[in-house]
Amino acid sequence: MGDKDKKICKLAKEDYLKDEFKKYKELVKDARYVCRKCGRVAVKEKRLCKPEKM
Ligand SMILES: [Zn+2]
Repeated sequence: MGDKDKKICKLAKEDYLKDEFKKYKELVKDARYVCRKCGRVAVKEKRLCKPEKM
């Protein structure tokens, strides 16, 4: 499973934000969903553990 299939919630806990901040910005810049549990945002619902439409 590559990074593109991982949940943003999980990536955020793995130092992804520090190392791949540019990619992270791409993932969240047009975000339509917010995670009810973690407060992360994403374009795609499946990238969050508890997605809710914004
Ligand atoms: Zn989450």
